[in-house]
Amino acid sequence: MRDPRYDCLFEPVRLGPVTARNRFYQVPHCSGMGWKRPRMLAAMRGIKAEGGWGVVCTEYCSVHPTSDDGAHPFARLWDADDIRDNALMTEAVHAHGALAGVELWLGGNYIANLDTRVPPLGVISRPPTNLDVYHPVQSRRLDKRDVADIRRWQADAAGRAVEAGFDIVYVYATHGYLVSEFLNSATNDRTDEYGGSLENRYRIVHELIDVTLEAVAGKAAVAVRYAADLADPESFDAFGAMADLPDLWDLNVHDYGVEMGVSRFTGEAALREHVGRARAMTTKPVVAVGRFTSPDTMARVLREGVQDLIGAARPSIADPFLPKKIEEGRLEDIRECIGCNICYAHNTLCVPIRCTQNPTMGEEHRRGWHPERIPRISGPRRERILVVGAGPAGLEAARALGERGHEVLLAEAAREVGGRVARESRLPGLSTWRRVRDWRVGQIDKLSNVEVFRESLMSVGDVLEVGADHVFVATGSRWTTDGVGRTRNLPFTVDPDAVVAGADTVLDEAETPSGRVVIFDDDHYYLGPVIALALRARGNEVTLVTPAGRPGQWSSYTNEQHASVRAMLDAGVEIVTNEVVEGLEPLRVTTSCVFSGRQRVIAADWILPLTRREPHDALYHEVRAAIVEDRTGAPKTVARIGDCLAPGTIAAAVYGGYRAALEMSPAPDWTTEN
Ligand code: ADP
Ligand code: SF4
Repeated sequence: MRDPRYDCLFEPVRLGPVTARNRFYQVPHCSGMGWKRPRMLAAMRGIKAEGGWGVVCTEYCSVHPTSDDGAHPFARLWDADDIRDNALMTEAVHAHGALAGVELWLGGNYIANLDTRVPPLGVISRPPTNLDVYHPVQSRRLDKRDVADIRRWQADAAGRAVEAGFDIVYVYATHGYLVSEFLNSATNDRTDEYGGSLENRYRIVHELIDVTLEAVAGKAAVAVRYAADLADPESFDAFGAMADLPDLWDLNVHDYGVEMGVSRFTGEAALREHVGRARAMTTKPVVAVGRFTSPDTMARVLREGVQDLIGAARPSIADPFLPKKIEEGRLEDIRECIGCNICYAHNTLCVPIRCTQNPTMGEEHRRGWHPERIPRISGPRRERILVVGAGPAGLEAARALGERGHEVLLAEAAREVGGRVARESRLPGLSTWRRVRDWRVGQIDKLSNVEVFRESLMSVGDVLEVGADHVFVATGSRWTTDGVGRTRNLPFTVDPDAVVAGADTVLDEAETPSGRVVIFDDDHYYLGPVIALALRARGNEVTLVTPAGRPGQWSSYTNEQHASVRAMLDAGVEIVTNEVVEGLEPLRVTTSCVFSGRQRVIAADWILPLTRREPHDALYHEVRAAIVEDRTGAPKTVARIGDCLAPGTIAAAVYGGYRAALEMSPAPDWTTEN
């Protein structure tokens, strides 16, 4: 039963000529699917509609080949083939009673048109402004005829959008793309009616709204995605002049790192001040994101008039059934987004998105997985399964195996379950990551066929004593200290009196030495910077040495690199780039330049290498040997999952646990493990 406090979330809302059934609005978000994977996209979006979202939008959708974000799989509406592909998505969304939205997109100077090989069109001629790529490309400065073309392309694509079945059609005026170049006096040097005064710079938005309204001819609502940013008073002046032109406003701020910031640096409802101010200036409905996972916060922002619809990208990825769960009063079942941006990272890597919390994301079409339905087994196919290790892989495997109907025993050496998630979430900024453990523990608690044994360090003898039919070994991995990894093939040279500490000593909250520490970060993700901040907070002097040109290089994909490096600089962490640690002596570390080999010495009391993890798989090999030797109590099969098989992200461990649970019966890949 729904809590009446949340009734406001389920009131229908009129958006111009169409009506959304409730206030849950999945804003346009990239998926790594787009025009390349239309069936995958349709299945994924359709499941969100099934999960109760009132509006489900597709990703940024190119209106013309001059807007090509190759190799990223954006959506597109260039021709009849594209209409057909997009119709797969709108049909899947309509089948569950939701509205389908499309964000028509003009790329501008942000993109390189690598696929179409047409020079990008920019307000001024310049290289791509996306600072995470350095393509040797420069745009063509657009002229008045191009502006007319842009209006025509938008109108034609809007017409195709209606044909494809979309109910909401966007004008996309933010995120650094072409339209936002016009708006910003720093990126618009035009002297005609499209440059100079505020009225002139914003003329393009007015024109695009007009042509889109005309093209959709009352068959779809027209939305504008726009940055109403308190740091930019002009954005409100211009908003005032347009406030009632479209049917709907989808609002954000200029800083993408705030709009979709990682939980390390950005909390829930981060845009409320900006959006609330704009909402007070318009009679039209307003949607905005805020990594909303709490129904209390959602209801509050509606009640307080901050916005009319709850926008979500990530919360709808982590839990496509979030609205349904609120509607049915099953709040404890909500799989809350942890704000890690693994989803976004994989779009940036040009592959289908995935999710740390939701292992089925991106596999709805390819594997037929569903976030809420898992094939159940019964009768003689019910097996007794031992899962060893309750990190993300073991917890997810035990949960999913339990949901399937097996008898499951989950043994964990520590008193606390959660493995690396429990340990890492104690580090600065990572507390939200606990949700990975907490959701799984909550689900397992509901399953009478899953038993959890804490403080149960399992030896091979213990495993044989259990006498399970199948064993999954999810015993994780440990960080090594020898320096071998991505860059180094050979171990460091280490003087016996030098102090080397494994990263696990920090994660285990074991005592770490005081004084000056050098972190050799050949991991390039969040952990080096996070440990640097943790040690700094404890009073250590910290130097982070990386062989890359920038620290935390992979975290550029999760969109946290800038904030992460800024936090280190603010905290007084010294950063050394393009260097590799070679040798360790008492009170000093020798590094060499990755280009010249030139060596230098950094004073250090101890070093913490982050270069490689060693799978903790001895138990797996012992159980496997017991099967071969046909020992009493040996299981029929044993398999490794998660970091014990191959150390990776938390998302990969959760995925591995889910996949193992799903595919064991029948067991294609899984049996090859034995
Ligand atoms: P993953 O990311 O693959 O889930 P983790 O390192 O997070 O891996 O978790 C592994 C878990 O396995 C840890 O909680 C650890 O305490 C537990 N573990 C390791 N060896 C054993 C063992 N022999 N018996 C029971 N639990 C174990
Ligand atoms: Fe949230 Fe991380 Fe899942 Fe993205 S990958 S939806 S940020 S939990």
